[in-house]
Amino acid sequence: MTMTRYHLEPQTGTGFLLERGRTLKIIDPRGEQVSDLTAFAQDDTREWLSSGRSIDYANTIYLTAGHTLYSNRSRPMFTIVEDTVGRHDFLLTPCSRDTFRLLYDFHDYHPSCFENLSKGLAPFGVEPDAIPTTFNVFMNVRVLPSGELRIDPPPSRPGDYIALRAEMDLIVGVTACSAEKSNNYSFKPIDVEVY
Ligand SMILES: [Zn+2]
Repeated sequence: MTMTRYHLEPQTGTGFLLERGRTLKIIDPRGEQVSDLTAFAQDDTREWLSSGRSIDYANTIYLTAGHTLYSNRSRPMFTIVEDTVGRHDFLLTPCSRDTFRLLYDFHDYHPSCFENLSKGLAPFGVEPDAIPTTFNVFMNVRVLPSGELRIDPPPSRPGDYIALRAEMDLIVGVTACSAEKSNNYSFKPIDVEVY
C-alpha cells in the first residue's frame, strides 16, 4: 500500500518526515539516474546518517539488500530490504557548487544535490553545514587497485529501485542528482514512494 509519493523533477530534491517501520522506495523511472539520500533523527538532528559507521560495520563499500545503514551514534537508521541494482556509492559527498568549481572549473550557477538537500531539509531545522556524505543511490563508483576512484554511468535501468526500511523516526532528504558525469550526461527524474 503506497502512503505517499514524491516525483522529483530532474536536478531537484525534497525533504520529508519518515516514521519508523515505514519503507522508502527510490525508483529510477528512466534509468542511469543517481539519487542522493541523507537522513537525520527526528528527535535530535545531531544524529545523522554516517557513511563511515555504515561502511565500517558492513565491512564493504558496496552496500545492498540485507545491509544496515547506521547513524554517527551507531544506531540503525535504515535496513536495505530490496535492491534491484546492487551498486550505490557511500564514499562521495553530494555534488555542490564547489564540486563543479573545483573538479570542472565551472564558476557559474549550477544546480546541485547540496543546494537541493539544504532547501529540502531547512524546514526541519537542518543547517547546510550538517549535511554529511550522502548515500548515493545508483551511483557507480569503483575503486581501482591504485586507490584511484572511477565514476561510470549508473547501472540502473528504467524501473530499477532500492527499498529501505526506516529503523527510527527520520527526517529524510533525497534528490535527483545534478552532476553531469554521475548521470551519463543527461538529467532524469526520480520517483519516491513511502509504504
Ligand atoms: Zn548530485
